[in-house]
Amino acid sequence: MPGYELIGDAEQAALNDVFETGGVLSRYGFEDQREEFRVEEFEAALAERMGVEHALMVSSGTAALKLALVGLGIEDGDEVITQSYTFVATLEAALELGATPVVTEIDETLNMDPTDLEEKVTEDTAAIVPVHMGGVPARMDAVLDVAAKYDVPVLEDSAQSMGARYEGAPLGTVGDVGIYSFDPGKIITTGEGGALVTDDESIYQRAREYQNHGHEFNPELPMGADTRRMWGFNYKVTEMHGAVGLAQFEKLDRILETQGRTRDQLRSELADVPGMSLRSVPDGGQASGTTVTVLLESKDRAQGLVEHLSDRDVSTGILPNALKWHFAGTWDHVFSDRSGALQDRWPASRDILERAVLFPISMEMTSADVESIAAECESYLGG
Ligand SMILES: *Cc1c(COP(=O)(O)O)cnc(C)c1O
Repeated sequence: MPGYELIGDAEQAALNDVFETGGVLSRYGFEDQREEFRVEEFEAALAERMGVEHALMVSSGTAALKLALVGLGIEDGDEVITQSYTFVATLEAALELGATPVVTEIDETLNMDPTDLEEKVTEDTAAIVPVHMGGVPARMDAVLDVAAKYDVPVLEDSAQSMGARYEGAPLGTVGDVGIYSFDPGKIITTGEGGALVTDDESIYQRAREYQNHGHEFNPELPMGADTRRMWGFNYKVTEMHGAVGLAQFEKLDRILETQGRTRDQLRSELADVPGMSLRSVPDGGQASGTTVTVLLESKDRAQGLVEHLSDRDVSTGILPNALKWHFAGTWDHVFSDRSGALQDRWPASRDILERAVLFPISMEMTSADVESIAAECESYLGG
């Protein structure tokens, strides 16, 4: 939420402008036919906003995750630790590089459990990837402590959490490298797209080279004669992504403010409903307002609540409706574990996720909508 809700005149005008100023659609080249470099402009705006040296816009959040791992030098045989509650893309990025995804339990923040993280570190651990699900920060202090103790770099999957913070720092900039997604369900959208942000020159350079077939961007040479030290792939975006991204980015503060207000109201109304508790936000964390998640006393109560709400046209998000795409315990296509034991491999996570109900916060939600969600929860749980 809620990028797609706010696609409108500004994005259309930005696209028209691409055609009216020379019609160059590629981010690289054609220097003599244009004055605008919109992807570069977007990257500069993103880097400035996040307070980092480098931003790289690429074709998806998943591509950004893979490129961040490339930047960290992840390769065949390495282990990449992430958490059980995430979108499957986090694991796919590791698998693409021949690395083995290792998955931790979550705790009541619904993000990485730092205690389990430490237990899962081995001598092959090459990266730790906490995921800030639904705009709520992971326990970054504890995650960074483990990372420092074993000297392993941290990649933050902030696909869902642009604009949220941890101890004042934007999520995505707390570890060594971070990523955002611009798919239609994320905070801002370019249809498809993503970005990575980092202060680390070497991570940035490697990621940038890989997204463009290994081009080193040697300033002395034209593209066609460029030098290279590795092969890569094509994860480039077009100027159309840059143009729409810039228009969406202008709306970020308004989105954060509106969602934050709705989130606060919903949290405070739900706090008094018996039989449910609010997902906890770690100390030092400032969540964005993109979701509110509650935990019920049992799986049956959660299912019952979702049915009750659905009959009254209140929609609930990925928990529980898309749990299969967001919980490692259902991914037998990734873990080739068909014994049926996979679903019990992360029992603490399973217990939490099956009792969880997530409310996506849309931009259009009114105060009256919030009151009616709370009233329906009260009517189901209080009655
Ligand atoms: C959306 C998402 C991604 C992938 O982003 P795409 O732009 O769709 O490729 C990765 N991780 C998480 C947690 C996501 O929600």
